Amino acid sequence: MSQWYKKSYFRNLVDMHIPSGEQNLENFDAEKYAECMAIAGVDTAYVYASNCLGLCLFPSEVGFRHTITYTRDIFGETVAALRKRGIRVVGYLNSWCAEGARRHPEWQITNAGGGHAGDAGRFATCCLNSPYRDLFHSLVYEMVSKYDIEGLWVDMIGFYMPICVCDWCKAKYKAETGYDLPTTISWTDPNYLRYIQFKFDTVSTYAQGITDAAHRAKPDITVSLQCASWSNSYLTGLGNDYFATMDYVSGDFYADRDATDIVCRLLPNLSQNNPFEYMISRAPDLAYHTAIKDKSEILLQAYTAFLCGGSFLFIDAIDPDGGLNVELYKMMADVKRELEPFFKTIDYEASVLRDVAVYINFDSYTDRRSENRPAAELGNFCGVIREKLMTLNKALSRAHIDYDILTEKNIDELSRYKVIILPDLYRMSQSECEKIRRYVENGGRIFVTGCSSALSTDGTNKDKFMLEDVLGVKYNKFVDRVPVYMAPTEKGQKFFEHFNETYPAMFTEAAVTVDLAADSADVLATVTYPFTDARNFHRYSSAISNPPSEKTDIPALVYNKYGKGASMYSFAPFERSKTVCNYDIFATLINSLINENGGAIFETDECQYLEHVIRHSEEKKHYTVSLLNYQNTKKIAPLYNVCFSLLLDIEPKKVYTNLGTEVKWEKRDGKLYFDVARLDIYDVIYIEY
Ligand SMILES: [Zn+2]
Repeated sequence: MSQWYKKSYFRNLVDMHIPSGEQNLENFDAEKYAECMAIAGVDTAYVYASNCLGLCLFPSEVGFRHTITYTRDIFGETVAALRKRGIRVVGYLNSWCAEGARRHPEWQITNAGGGHAGDAGRFATCCLNSPYRDLFHSLVYEMVSKYDIEGLWVDMIGFYMPICVCDWCKAKYKAETGYDLPTTISWTDPNYLRYIQFKFDTVSTYAQGITDAAHRAKPDITVSLQCASWSNSYLTGLGNDYFATMDYVSGDFYADRDATDIVCRLLPNLSQNNPFEYMISRAPDLAYHTAIKDKSEILLQAYTAFLCGGSFLFIDAIDPDGGLNVELYKMMADVKRELEPFFKTIDYEASVLRDVAVYINFDSYTDRRSENRPAAELGNFCGVIREKLMTLNKALSRAHIDYDILTEKNIDELSRYKVIILPDLYRMSQSECEKIRRYVENGGRIFVTGCSSALSTDGTNKDKFMLEDVLGVKYNKFVDRVPVYMAPTEKGQKFFEHFNETYPAMFTEAAVTVDLAADSADVLATVTYPFTDARNFHRYSSAISNPPSEKTDIPALVYNKYGKGASMYSFAPFERSKTVCNYDIFATLINSLINENGGAIFETDECQYLEHVIRHSEEKKHYTVSLLNYQNTKKIAPLYNVCFSLLLDIEPKKVYTNLGTEVKWEKRDGKLYFDVARLDIYDVIYIEY
């Protein structure tokens, strides 16, 4: 297998979603295109061989052809012009196909509520169970066979419909399972669960078919597929098996700091190989055809990818006549000049040292309120996991707690962390719960919220925590009453800086109530309710707010020792909280769990802009601390005298920054203290021992 992606950090993709007909790429100049890449210093160019309309930009004998290809081979010309300049080429294909849907209306993905995804015209798509499936696999084989490329990248793969009721899906589902398609969402109905698996399988086998076709054509070629819709997995059908079909995971994101942070902490753990690929567009969103982001924003996103051991790709979009704005490429040449000294610091072989991991699974990308709704409405309840992670990132990064995001693929790696967070993981499998139980038994600490483990993935365990013994609490009932208050007890007061029994901490989400289930369980806070529900507009104790009123003995926050470890259970979802005070309580609780399990490896009093990642290379006998000053402004103010400590039992021989400046350090109380004189945006501190 080609390993080019392990030493390529500055890549480009130019979107070419141009229809046939008017302004149909008639002024496209492959030499100018390749020259733009050379100006920016792009080492690998991802080039369109087909677009989202399903139009091929080369004279395909298999796929639908863009009209320009009757006189020219746009893709072939571009590949040649890039190769001439020594730039590596990855062929791009798009799985969407409006042209296929137009010519074969019966191939369209069909909504259970009536109509087709295809009715959207330019966004029409074909069902992956229709004959389009084979056509696309043949197209992959044809394109990869014909052209001198080192990689294949396929965009927009997914189901993109809560449930497709086309004839192909109906027939295939019946043939494979013996059942008709379900009509209602139910996480305990075997037929609905079977359908969700059918959807995951449809997409993962389609993806595997792409990889197989590419390898039949060129055994050494790398294959990567769009992974940006990971957070909508029930809707798009991207599950665990999907990410295993490609060499490295990759996705384009239109992201602020929190979204960038979470993706760069998740993708390396989903990827079969690293570096993963972080793609951004040159505009805030490619709908803004003429916009270019600030250079500082692009740098921050690229550095976040480097911070987390990834590679970087920027996306441009072509003009309908085939032109490109050369000014972007001149600016990207400046960006590369700033990034380049850090290419050599990316070491994905080194082990990353993090105290905390957030564990998520693809089974909990839903909301319990979806139960018994029509199957066609599933989309309204997806995407909740991204929201949760964004909130957790706010809380953890403000407190300088670096963390990983793990999925089922990483379930056997839990012992690497001092604390594992389970953010209201509604659906879990018995085997996941067993691994988490063993982790705690052996000394691990878990922080668990809401309905985590209350429903088994096979639907047989409902409204009972499978982790009851570990948590020391048992599920009572789900109470749809908001807001809810968490009032600290005497034992728990130390975690609640600004709150107490009279002024408890408020959460705006509905919560589960629990009873104690173990003698070892300590109640750190209890539940307090307001006078009436916030949605009651006629009876209230205060018109604007809903102050605490009804104190209860219901446990709200419970600490429980289990085996050599311990758990902390919160009835309220911290991961959906919107207030900074709740982030602070959360960070205090997580830090207390870290401290009872060995202590934090990294500590600092620096401002919240500072992000860090620590790595260890046993082979190179050094630790590195990557530091990022994430201020999303046009002019980033440098941070002076950035001080931090590391809990490491080593004798450093030499400590310096990537650019060669020495770093002051000293050892006291079993810790190493460092003082970095100035941090502009990004730097990597080397600690040789
Ligand atoms: Zn279908």
